[in-house]
Amino acid sequence: MDQEKNYYVIAFYIFTPIDDPHREVARHQAFFATRDICSRIYISEQGINGQMSASKEHGLEYMDWMREDDRFKDIDFKCHTHHEQVFPRSTVKYRKQLVALDHNADPSKGGEHLSPEEWKQMLDEKKENILLLDVRNDYEWKVGHFEGAVKPDLDIFRKFPEYAKELKKTHDPKNTKVMMYCTGGIRCELYSSLMKDEGFETVYQLNGGVIKYGQEVGESKWLGKLFVFDDRVTIPIAEENKAPVISSCKYCDAPSDTYYNCANMDCNNLFLACPSCAEKFEGCCQAECQCSTRRRAFLLGKEEKPKPFKKKHLSVMVKT
Ligand SMILES: [Zn+2]
Ligand SMILES: [Zn+2]
Repeated sequence: MDQEKNYYVIAFYIFTPIDDPHREVARHQAFFATRDICSRIYISEQGINGQMSASKEHGLEYMDWMREDDRFKDIDFKCHTHHEQVFPRSTVKYRKQLVALDHNADPSKGGEHLSPEEWKQMLDEKKENILLLDVRNDYEWKVGHFEGAVKPDLDIFRKFPEYAKELKKTHDPKNTKVMMYCTGGIRCELYSSLMKDEGFETVYQLNGGVIKYGQEVGESKWLGKLFVFDDRVTIPIAEENKAPVISSCKYCDAPSDTYYNCANMDCNNLFLACPSCAEKFEGCCQAECQCSTRRRAFLLGKEEKPKPFKKKHLSVMVKT
């Protein structure tokens, strides 16, 4: 049964000078205090990177409020609808870097933005020397990515500058056309700029990331689901929801794109499992974790999608 989708889930960012980011944090907090809004928003001298869920009324109020401000009037808000809030609380914080990267990348010197439609066209044309580069983490890549994409073999993305240097040994920076994408577009703003600093002459970035691509083009060229950093965990990129499942249960290898946080709170590993293995192992990522005394009870019904572990769930412990 479909639940009524009375909430917006909104993702946005903009690079724009913010003279006093702490004051902007306070201004946001005051705006949210009286409204039905949950958020994870970071503000720096460089701009703002935000995700939020809100009742439709308050989500619209927020977007209007932002557009009244010259610094924020060009923000491209990407909205999905959902039946409940997807963030545990309202967080608005100052953060020195909007994207974790130890390199002074200038977003105004980044790769050329391609609209989702142009992106699809370029993939359709199958030109030579294209390097389709996914700049997300392993666990994001695993459940979904573009057909033919490659993922840098990195444990942490702070090491991306080294990767870009290595890449020049196998890919001629003059002739390679780099097509770079991420979830909502912000990572590419900086990573594409870094690639250009490294000498890659032709770098494209997918404007609005996979979120916008799904909304404007659909699932063409996309495999699997999109990992998102909220209670939904993974979502189909478009309503058609026909993209093949490309990941599998860590126990039995059956196709699965459902992530669980290990029920052992000292582990809390993110892992993929099918419903019956998740139940059999009581939500644990390995048999040893089932022996933990600090283990949350596995309460899911077989059809329910698990939410990421949050501290307030600590109250539901296994009786040992
Ligand atoms: Zn299984
Ligand atoms: Zn575990």
